[in-house]
Amino acid sequence: MSPLLLLGRPVADSLLESLKADIKKLDPKLVVVQVGDDPASESYIRQKLKSCEAVGLRNEHRHLSEKVTLEELMQTIGELNENADVTGFIVQLPLPKALQPHVPEVIRAIDPKKDIDGFGAYNLGKMFLSVEFEHLPPATPSGVIEILKFYKISIEGKHAVVVGRSNIVGKPLAIMLLNRGATVTVCNSKTKNLAEITRQADILCCAVGSPKMITKNMVKQGAVVIDIGVSRVDGKLSGDVDFEAVSEVVSAITPVPGGVGPMTVASLIRNCITAKKRQLSAE
Ligand code: NAP
Repeated sequence: MSPLLLLGRPVADSLLESLKADIKKLDPKLVVVQVGDDPASESYIRQKLKSCEAVGLRNEHRHLSEKVTLEELMQTIGELNENADVTGFIVQLPLPKALQPHVPEVIRAIDPKKDIDGFGAYNLGKMFLSVEFEHLPPATPSGVIEILKFYKISIEGKHAVVVGRSNIVGKPLAIMLLNRGATVTVCNSKTKNLAEITRQADILCCAVGSPKMITKNMVKQGAVVIDIGVSRVDGKLSGDVDFEAVSEVVSAITPVPGGVGPMTVASLIRNCITAKKRQLSAE
């Protein structure tokens, strides 16, 4: 039997639709800061701004030159922190090579109340407390949780295996699954016998960026597979999962593209509205 295809578009559309009334009422504003001209970033930013337009969310694109200094970037961040009209903003990563060592400083400079990517230590740290404190969770893990919810896939009591431990995807996703009662195993590049571990997963989430590394023999019969990885192979997008082969054994799977991707933008927009509500309630 073919598995349930966990498409992200209907989930994203339903989430965005549910946000429209708040957008109209609260009139928040989202700003994207781009530094340099990374082509992948250009495409991600286009998608973000297009989705803002589609739901009537005010937005602005600050495009800084590749040669901008750390001081100039910090000045922009400082101005956005102070600007009462700006609800939330993101600094699109990756930064140009010269600024890459400063990413932690850059993220730290963003006011936690406006950190709608949820990458700063304050918002990440709060997630450790419980579901109730996941106020501004990173958008991609948040999108994964939303997909599971939409397709009525329960998390509680399941063994969830997360492959990848980045601060923006793997780790926060592991915490969100843990907060919802899963037993969680997190794997990384040093993990021994990866296949032995992934085969134990009821829910297998892969966030590595290594095309088709998850093969059929690494997945349990009937498992739910969430493929977060995105790589470009011969001009085509590929996930971390060998989709065709793995589909033969699992009960549900996200495609790449069309799975987690659309949810990331919708979750970012939701964070902007949450940020606005929290700013208003703190006044
Ligand atoms: P990242 O920072 O490069 O992290 C990759 C993780 O994979 C690291 O923790 C690394 O382990 C681990 N890893 C590498 N090789 C491995 C192996 N052989 N076995 C087990 N683990 C291994 O990447 P990221 O930012 O988390 O993104 C991961 C993927 O998701 C990328 O393809 C990215 O494009 C995609 N992504 C998609 C969306 C979306 O909206 N769909 C959003 C964000 C990211 P170590 O820590 O030991 O090095």
